[in-house]
Amino acid sequence: MIIEEEDFCCLNEKCPDYNKKGAANIKIHSTYGKHARIRMLKCKTCGSFFSERKNTLFYNCRLPEGQITEIINLLGRGYSIRKIHRLTGISRNAISRLVHITARYTNQCIECHFKEIENDIKI
Ligand SMILES: [Zn+2]
Repeated sequence: MIIEEEDFCCLNEKCPDYNKKGAANIKIHSTYGKHARIRMLKCKTCGSFFSERKNTLFYNCRLPEGQITEIINLLGRGYSIRKIHRLTGISRNAISRLVHITARYTNQCIECHFKEIENDIKI
């Protein structure tokens, strides 16, 4: 799934366009990673650069996205790390790391949604 430029927002909290989607301030600057598939984005307002994967499960993860998704699906079905290792051949350390990243990311998402709900209630 390719996310378009207008669906990204600036991640620099000091930027006037911080967290504003559709502000037309984000441009693709370059690509990086294996086969140059990951886009480096630039905010035209503040000039900051960030990966399209920043604040996602895939940030700084060397596993292909398909394998990450597969592991998370298996974890969701209640498979143990050892069993996932046997099924996929991916190291237990890599799976454990992904478990921690997923837990941290999930907590961030929950906090973000609660903040949105609080802001909606205040309005
Ligand atoms: Zn910015």
